[in-house]
Amino acid sequence: METSRRAVLSSAAMGGAAALLAPRLGRAAAPFASTQAPGYYRFQLGDAQVTVLHDGERSFAMPAQFVTNVPHDQAIVAASEAFMPPGSVTVPFNPTLINTGGKLVLIDTGNGPAAGAGIGQLLGNLQAAGVTPEQIDIVLLSHLHPDHTNGLRRLDGSIAFPNASILAPEPDWTFWMSDTNMAQANDAVTKAYFANTRKVLGGLDERIGRFKWNTEVAPGITAISAPGHTPGHTAFTVSSGSARLLVQSDVTNIPEFFLRNPDWHVMYDHDPDQAAKTRHAIYDMAAADRLLVVGYHFAFPSLGHVERASAGYRLVPIAWQAAL
Ligand SMILES: [Zn+2]
Repeated sequence: METSRRAVLSSAAMGGAAALLAPRLGRAAAPFASTQAPGYYRFQLGDAQVTVLHDGERSFAMPAQFVTNVPHDQAIVAASEAFMPPGSVTVPFNPTLINTGGKLVLIDTGNGPAAGAGIGQLLGNLQAAGVTPEQIDIVLLSHLHPDHTNGLRRLDGSIAFPNASILAPEPDWTFWMSDTNMAQANDAVTKAYFANTRKVLGGLDERIGRFKWNTEVAPGITAISAPGHTPGHTAFTVSSGSARLLVQSDVTNIPEFFLRNPDWHVMYDHDPDQAAKTRHAIYDMAAADRLLVVGYHFAFPSLGHVERASAGYRLVPIAWQAAL
C-alpha cells in the first residue's frame, strides 16, 4: 500500500516530460470522423435480393400549409412528438434496387447530383453497394416528382443509367407532359413540378417507356394503382417464391404524420381525397397480409410492417439484419 502510494507520488513529481512519454491508455486517440457510413441496406427476398439505397434526407422549416387540413399548431406538435428538430420536418429519400436474379431493377432515382448538401447520395451509395450505374437494366419511376426523377441525369445532363430501359406510369406521363395541364396549374408547388418535368424529362419522350397498372413491369415486379399523390402515382409488389415486398412509394409522405393520420393531407398530394382513400386501401391490405413494406420517405433503412392503430396505422420498423 505504502509502496504504491510512494510510486504514485514519485511519478507525479517527475513532472510534465515524463507524463508526455507515458502511454495514454484509456484515452480516445482517434480523430472524429467527418463522413457518415455508406447508406445501403440489403436483404434476401426469396430468390431475389433487395438493396435500399439512401439518397439522403432534408430537414426544413415546416411550411404553414405542410398539412393542408389540420391547423399548423397541430402539425408542429406532431413533428415535436416525432422528435424532429423544433419547428421543422425531416424527410428522408430512399430508392430501392432489386436484383431479380436476372435483372437489376432500380425503383426511383433520388434528388439528383445538383440537389444540395445531404441529398443526391444515390450514385455514391450505389457504388458503395458494389453496383455501377451501367449495370442497371430497368429504371422504374413511381411518379414524376423531382425527388424521384432528378437522379436520372448527371450534372452534365447525360442519363445516369445509360443501359437501362426507363419506364414511367402512363397516367403520370400523360398528365405532367401536357402543356394544357401546365397552363392550368395555379399554385406555386404544382407550377414548379411542371417546370421540373420539362427540365429533367424534356426530350425523353422516345427514351422513356410507359407502363400500365396491374402489369408485370419487370420479372416478379407488378405496378399497383395508387393514385392521389399524383394522377399516376404507383406502388409496386415484388414477389419471389412465397416472399413478397410492397414498395409503397409515396402512398404516405413521412409516416410519422400521414401513416399515423391517414386522412391528413400533405401539401404535395395532387388529389388529397383520393390520396387518403389510397392510403386506407394500401395499408388495410398491408396490415391484413402482414406485408413487409419499403417506404421512400420512411427513416432508413425504410423497412417495416404496418398495423392498424387507434386513429390510423402504426409502422413497426424491422430490426437490422446482419446476415443475409
Ligand atoms: Zn416523394
